[in-house]
Amino acid sequence: MQSDTCVIRNARIVQPENVIPHGFLEITKGRIVRISEGEDSSSSTECTFDAKGATLTPGFIDLHVHGGNGGTFTSLDPAEHNLAREFHLKSGTTSMLATTHTTEFSSLLAILSALSKSSRSNKNGSKVLGIHTEGPFISEYKPGAHVVAQLKLGNLPEIDEVISSADNFISMVTIAPEIPGGLEMIRYLSKKNIISSIGHTNATYMQAIAGIEAGARSATHLFNAMSPLSHRDPGAVGAILGNEEIFAELILDGIHIDEAIFRIALKCKGVDHINLITDATSLAGFPDGKYKVLSDRAVTKEGGKIVISGTDTLAGSVLDMNMVYKNAAKFARISQSELSKLTSLNAAKILGKESDIGSIEIGKFADLVLLDSELKVCGTMIEGQWKYSSDVWKEELSR
Ligand SMILES: [Zn+2]
Ligand SMILES: [Zn+2]
Repeated sequence: MQSDTCVIRNARIVQPENVIPHGFLEITKGRIVRISEGEDSSSSTECTFDAKGATLTPGFIDLHVHGGNGGTFTSLDPAEHNLAREFHLKSGTTSMLATTHTTEFSSLLAILSALSKSSRSNKNGSKVLGIHTEGPFISEYKPGAHVVAQLKLGNLPEIDEVISSADNFISMVTIAPEIPGGLEMIRYLSKKNIISSIGHTNATYMQAIAGIEAGARSATHLFNAMSPLSHRDPGAVGAILGNEEIFAELILDGIHIDEAIFRIALKCKGVDHINLITDATSLAGFPDGKYKVLSDRAVTKEGGKIVISGTDTLAGSVLDMNMVYKNAAKFARISQSELSKLTSLNAAKILGKESDIGSIEIGKFADLVLLDSELKVCGTMIEGQWKYSSDVWKEELSR
């Protein structure tokens, strides 16, 4: 059991605007109470971790994750939810929005009820801050791996059923603004403080702008399953790239989007309005092969890619946030401070939780990731407790 007050010394501490090269951090009752440069001899606690020059960055916050290690959130079984949360904890995800996939509506409602309960009661794995429902309120023309027959039009009584089944734990809903009733639904969700995310959409530029004006604050996996940008038809992608306020998710596996597209998106949106996500499925962490997932459809995993078997349609990713972080560092010239916004701070901001999480600053929870010189996760801390440590770091981080 770690004590109430702990210090981490000898760490490279990544803050939003700078990196402290040889930093010291003090944590009391799960929150950061002191950050300084060099050694701080005024602390008397015996609970001291030596980071040995490794990098301390804010815990990753994944706004769009369906599962991992064989567990999916689109399930009634809390054991599956926990498998996924424990898998992603090891990759540095301290908080997430557990994300559901379209299923037959009545079973989605039952799943949301089970997921809301397991998310709030289980203390292992990454923290679940809320639920992101991806589908059924999306376009039949851009279904991706969702089953068209299970999709729905915008309908307020049905969104009410979604919200109440999840016991008011819905944080984000992916919506195609152009479906009948879509804009009303976005306005309705805004009033309830639930984020609408434009996605799986065939919207024209003007329809997407209408969605933003109605209150949509995010875009679900920008570029994927979305009307593209073309010079006479700027589409949903054009509307999102051209707007300064809306946040955009990106799946950074080098498969869903080319790495050059990441650099272009960075130029358009800046480092303050992009959220890197995994969109990971239950197959993240699994070997290659053919599997029955997604409403019993067969998918094939080969290397870093999952497709609906026999097609080129991508069906989520096998990413974890550590892979996302490493890819971002490789694909763009970006500082670790900037990177921490894409993987942590921006997500905290869109969720309205930036006073508690998202950066290493005094007063916030000590939700931290320790990275080695190759950017591999050595340890994940949630609210001042090391919840995961790699084999190499086990001894140091378990004291
Ligand atoms: Zn999707
Ligand atoms: Zn997804």
